[in-house]
Formats: sequence, C-alpha cells, structure tokens
Amino acid sequence: MSNVVAGLAEVKARIAEAERAAERPSGAVSLVAVSKTHGIEAITPVIEAGQRVFGENRVQEAAAKWPTLRERFSDIELRLIGPLQSNKAAEAVALFDVIETVDRDKIAHALAAEMDKQGRAPRLYVQVNTGEEEQKAGIPPLDAVAFVERCRTVHGIKVEGLMCIPPVGENPGPHFALLAKIAEEAGIERLSMGMSGDFETAVAFGATSVRVGSAIFGARDYGHG
Ligand SMILES: *Cc1c(COP(=O)(O)O)cnc(C)c1O
Repeated sequence: MSNVVAGLAEVKARIAEAERAAERPSGAVSLVAVSKTHGIEAITPVIEAGQRVFGENRVQEAAAKWPTLRERFSDIELRLIGPLQSNKAAEAVALFDVIETVDRDKIAHALAAEMDKQGRAPRLYVQVNTGEEEQKAGIPPLDAVAFVERCRTVHGIKVEGLMCIPPVGENPGPHFALLAKIAEEAGIERLSMGMSGDFETAVAFGATSVRVGSAIFGARDYGHG
C-alpha cells in the first residue's frame, strides 16, 4: 500500500473517531483531500482508494491537473479553497464544483455573471477572516452575515457554507466556534473548517467538511511545485 493510501485511511479513521467523540452521526463530516502542489501520480492512488472530493488553492494549477484526471474518473468533486481574483472567475466557474473563498462583493458579482453566462452553478462558500488578519483573505466576522445576505439579495447567488482558516499558532477552537455562530446567525448549515493540524477540533465544533492535505499526501515541496 502506498503512503498516500495509508495516509488517507488514517485520516478517515481519525475523522470517524472524532465524530464518535463529539457524538455526531457517522458520516456527518466529509473529507476534502487537499492535493495542491501534488502531481497526478500522487493523486491517482488516492482516487483509486475511493476518495472523490479534492481541494486546490490555485486556479491555474488545478486547470493543469484535473481535466486529465477527470477523463479517467468522472465523479470527482473539485473545490477551490484558495483566494480568487475576479479575472479568474470564468475559469473558476468552469472548473470547480465548489468555490469556498467568496469574500467580497466584486467576486460575488463576477461569479454571478459567469454562472449566468456559462449556465453552471458551483456551490459557494463565504470565507470569513475569523482572526481579522491583515494579510489573510476573508470577510471580517462583523460583516459576514450582511455579506451572505447581500450575496442573495444583490448578487442573486446562494451561499451554501462558511469557511475559515484560523491564524497559525493560535488555539483554533475559538475561531471554529465563531464561524459556527456566524453560520447560525446567517441560517447556514455547512462549515468548512479544520486542516491536518486541527481537524479533530474542527469536528468537535461542528465542521461538516475538513480540508486535509499533508496528513494524506505528506509534506509539500513548494520548491518544485
Ligand atoms: C493547504 C490548505 C489546506 C490543507 O493544509 P494541511 O495543513 O496540509 O492539511 C487546507 N485549507 C486551505 C485553505 C489550504 O490552503
């Protein structure tokens, strides 16, 4: 068994255990395997082992890898989990099934226009900058509920979920709790939160999907990716 397949099995077992520990139904949390920087040779065995939902953080990189993989495996769900520029909206709408990083009116507007034009409707998540970090994407927590509402009333798009990336080095629990609270206020049920280092905590705080990369694929080598 290759390393990535063992990694996948272990992450799935840990998610199941975290669901039990949190007294949540089995299967309540879905796994998004984050394949950024990894090539087709690393991703293929993970698909063959049954994983179907994948996350990529760059439109260009995803466009280079996934059309080939989708020719072989038709039932892939691809999620954009990295920042989106409005000049990439057309490509993102064409390529992704879920876009998790809607965080400003300009992007919501560009996505709405493209969805209309292409007749394709990727499911959309709003990214919330729970740590209010200067350099990080995401709508500020205090603006999030109003932004979700504007997506519907001004831009005509439906928001399925919320996503966050807690600040590095901070206890993630309060950030996950804040995201869950905003979702409740906004009437949203899906929460994308938790990565390799903290997905069990995210499951305890109500994540419905976790985005796990290195715990499956091993460390990323940005030098050659
Ligand atoms: C890279 C990335 C992940 C996965 O990170 P790991 O720590 O490798 O699990 C999750 N979410 C986002 C937004 C990412 O960019």
